[in-house]
Amino acid sequence: MDGHRVRSTPPTIPSRPRSSSLTSFPPIQSADCLRQLAQEHHHIHRHDIENAMRQIPFHPAMKRGIQLLKNPTSLDTTLFILSNANTFFINTILQHQGIRDCFETIITNPADFPDPENPNRLVLRRRVGPDDLPHGCQVGCEENMCKGQELMRYLDAHRQSDNTEFDRIIYVGDGSNDFCPVLRLRRQDVVLCCRFRGLERKIADERAKGVASRLQCTVEYWSGAWEVEEKFKVYAQGSSLGVVN
Ligand SMILES: [Zn+2]
Repeated sequence: MDGHRVRSTPPTIPSRPRSSSLTSFPPIQSADCLRQLAQEHHHIHRHDIENAMRQIPFHPAMKRGIQLLKNPTSLDTTLFILSNANTFFINTILQHQGIRDCFETIITNPADFPDPENPNRLVLRRRVGPDDLPHGCQVGCEENMCKGQELMRYLDAHRQSDNTEFDRIIYVGDGSNDFCPVLRLRRQDVVLCCRFRGLERKIADERAKGVASRLQCTVEYWSGAWEVEEKFKVYAQGSSLGVVN
């Protein structure tokens, strides 16, 4: 399912404004923690894990916001996920919510049930494995994934595949590991930063540096999913947005 494209993109610069959104999943635990849980509880049936994923609350306003951006009358928008969870969990949740096809790409840690002799054994692997070349991030990403590096790779691949640039990137983030990709955003991009989480603290520390701050993008804050939905409505209409400090 990874990389499944839900629409074809033209080989030239589009005449309409174009934007992309990137969503992370706040309720999902870190990759190493999940890997350990999977090893300790290998007797749990696959269906039990799927059912647990389906029980995770998914705010209806967030779902409406995602569907709004994929509405044909909205701005031409590509949505993708950059998460430190894993493919199995994310696909299960999105399919249950009926919004899997809204997302063009999911960048996360691989997860599957590879052993036919033990079909309920979930194997979680790192995006950057212990035997791979370290990603070398200096910003503070976890060993298994540099989200900033992954974002730049995605944009490079997109640029090479259809010779287009996104007019604007909207990054929805909450955790401190979202700080690295946020530093890569341009002046015309926007981060929708969840209040009272690690990313807000990191952004505040960066802004405190004044002229030495590396932050270029616009920062907007939200606490509830309905606020994200409202912001998506504005973006979907292509209206200009004010900077929220
Ligand atoms: Zn990084």
